[in-house]
Amino acid sequence: MKRVVVKGVFSIGLAVCVAVVGALWGWPGRSLTTPTAVGTGGAVASVDVRATQVGIDVLRAGGNAVDAAVATAAALGVTDPFSAGIGGGGFMVIYQPDRDTVVTLDGREEAPAATTPDMFRDPDSPTGENLPFFPNRISSGLAVGVPGTPLNWATALERYGTQTLAEVLEPAIALADEGFTVDETFASQIDANQERFAAFTSTQPLYLPDNGVPEVGSTFRNPELANTYRLLADEGVNAFYRGEIGAAIAQTVQNPPVVVELPFPVWPGRMTEADLDRYEVRVRSPIASQYRGYQLYGMGLPSSGGITVAQTLNLLEGYDLGAMEQAEALHWLIEAERLAFSDRNTYLGDPEYVDVPVAGLLDPAYATSRRAALPATAPEDEANYRATAGNPLPYQEDPSPSLSEPPAVGLHSDDGGISTTHLSVIDADGMAVSYTLTLESTGGSGIVVPGYGFILNNELTDFDTALPHPNAPEPGKRPRSSMSPTLALTPDGGVLAFGSPGGSTIITTVLGIAVNVMDFGMPLDAAIAAPRISQRNGGSTTVDQGFETTPLGQALIAAGHQLNPTDEIGAATGIYRDGDRAFTAVAEPVRRGGGSAMTVQ
Ligand code: GLU
Repeated sequence: MKRVVVKGVFSIGLAVCVAVVGALWGWPGRSLTTPTAVGTGGAVASVDVRATQVGIDVLRAGGNAVDAAVATAAALGVTDPFSAGIGGGGFMVIYQPDRDTVVTLDGREEAPAATTPDMFRDPDSPTGENLPFFPNRISSGLAVGVPGTPLNWATALERYGTQTLAEVLEPAIALADEGFTVDETFASQIDANQERFAAFTSTQPLYLPDNGVPEVGSTFRNPELANTYRLLADEGVNAFYRGEIGAAIAQTVQNPPVVVELPFPVWPGRMTEADLDRYEVRVRSPIASQYRGYQLYGMGLPSSGGITVAQTLNLLEGYDLGAMEQAEALHWLIEAERLAFSDRNTYLGDPEYVDVPVAGLLDPAYATSRRAALPATAPEDEANYRATAGNPLPYQEDPSPSLSEPPAVGLHSDDGGISTTHLSVIDADGMAVSYTLTLESTGGSGIVVPGYGFILNNELTDFDTALPHPNAPEPGKRPRSSMSPTLALTPDGGVLAFGSPGGSTIITTVLGIAVNVMDFGMPLDAAIAAPRISQRNGGSTTVDQGFETTPLGQALIAAGHQLNPTDEIGAATGIYRDGDRAFTAVAEPVRRGGGSAMTVQ
């Protein structure tokens, strides 16, 4: 088995690596700025320079990785409010070096008690159709799940941090009060949401002041969000789940603050203050797996991320990808992803509601049996091809007769979004946090809670509405996610933290980065910058725009793959701390305007 040791390769001239990747991919005219930092003392990588700086300041002041991660996330709630924020949810994977353990925090949004499986059905449709996905379903009170992010922050700090919520919120409060300079990413995300944001009396004045998108270069302030953070700092998260913020959320969901001349109908939801009161963050075990000598930890259910990543890598263990031509290796990656996604789409849902055969799915013997279904060539007519799920049940050593047959669920394709954000932090002691958080769509439901300055999520659109399905909407259930915050202990005694935004492409982006580092021996910056290739058992294979014309893209097409170019896949971030405590922090160089990585020294 090939053991790629990443130590040392990270110091390779970064510009050279990215230039090579860029040239191979064909990035004429694109910026090759690489937001990569090499240093010591700890590191932070996020999509935003101001948020990364906040995290670095916390580390410099003696905070640990959890303190810095929460502070960075709170700052992102100000500067990247369309993906991150207290109106949403997320998953945190935390490595504690002193105990050599990994825990995960599930701060996923939850469906209100009044949820029904047909929650998105259009009451006016004679044939019982669902409401159109855009804009009706995603911009509704119906889609809003009970937010998990504030309690996730508080839980992380209480259990694993050294600072209080009040302390880590301070820099974000200052950012929201004093304002920050609008950049192209911020302005373009408002621009893309103009119609939705203009529909709500609370969102319009904040994000479309003077009926237009704030100008690039202007200063953006959010004093109401600063006050909301202050409330959390002064009164704790009970102000959110059992106090005035919660009351305002329930009121907003039940009576969305719509403008008089609505461009589309907005449906109210049925979240109550009791739903917020009931909400809990779950501390869960990670999904642990091994690959090429790396010990990987990912997020378990209700995210499908960790399981699907581990399953794909289990399949790939049977092939020496590093010894192959890259196109051949990528063929196996594509086919392994397709098979893993067929299982994901069939079996995975909230484990508190569904008996998911996790042990069987992750059993190496199951992977061995599934390899027989991995085709050496691309399936004919890939655009219309769907792999069939396997049967992991015999690999579970579970005699339960109810588990003797795999469930019959419909095949469906899975769209990838570009929303969500991932941040990575590793501190001087090696404590590592890999944290992905989201509002679901970019701009969530589009509904700002009046007077409180934050947007509510539309996470409940992640439920499957073609029933029956393990991911069907149910009261109190958490919709299945794809978020894949990942940690790996490397063969050289180092720690690697990485993750990505991008809906179900999150899983394939994380897989691409893992294979780039662990099989192809790429430095982390090149691994993150490299082209994305995403197969989710949804027909043709999604790739970055332009990749299809590169030699590698052409080689995959010649091998029979149908490539579907798309604009943005996975503005990822990652950090590697080697066995000698040297850090390489990497943010995306190009996608979503490029991110920001820094080290303490
Ligand atoms: N709702 C998605 C998930 O939990 C994330 C949203 C996105 O990245 O587009 O998987």
